[in-house]
Amino acid sequence: MVEASQEALRICPSDGTSMKKEVAHMLVIDRCPQCSGAWLDGGELERLKNGVENDALVLMARGVSFGI
Ligand SMILES: [Zn+2]
Repeated sequence: MVEASQEALRICPSDGTSMKKEVAHMLVIDRCPQCSGAWLDGGELERLKNGVENDALVLMARGVSFGI
């Protein structure tokens, strides 16, 4: 399950800035406020390929809250 607050902060490989967590399409993305670079956690690209949109719809239908 995607819970942004429980994942460790990443440091931008380009400029060393602490990246901010963003949740989009059920995925946690680390985005750098300095250079706008984005980083996907391991496995999240796979989840994108595997129809994340469908999963999101199912979860919304169940009324799951992620506390964003
Ligand atoms: Zn950066």
